[in-house]
Amino acid sequence: MERAPSHGTRRAVFSARDLACGHCGRVEMHPRFLDRLEVVREAMGRDLPVLAGYRCPEHDAAVGGSGAHTTGRAVDIRICGTDALRLVATALRHGFTGIGVGQSGPSGGRAIHLDDLCGGRFPRPRIWNHKET
Ligand SMILES: [Zn+2]
Repeated sequence: MERAPSHGTRRAVFSARDLACGHCGRVEMHPRFLDRLEVVREAMGRDLPVLAGYRCPEHDAAVGGSGAHTTGRAVDIRICGTDALRLVATALRHGFTGIGVGQSGPSGGRAIHLDDLCGGRFPRPRIWNHKET
């Protein structure tokens, strides 16, 4: 008989490959952030395709990032339309504090950035226009 998984199952939903730095492959996501993201995914009842997860400082600088993705507490989710609005509402309910809205251009390239940062380099709560990918 198979044993019921006891822990770590939430994190497994989002694959390390999707969350890895696009330049060096490092994956330094914050475990509590991934738990929070999985709660949102469950509440949404659908997959949340990850466009960007962890970025090493070199890669983040190269793509003109703010540094949020270097903390392991930020993702960009490919989503548009009513689901994008639903994602923002759901994320706010579950403690996300940074919402980047990239909802112009072709629907396949639209995204929502989510992070749960607070203070210091990253004043929160905050919402901003996120550049499209
Ligand atoms: Zn890298």
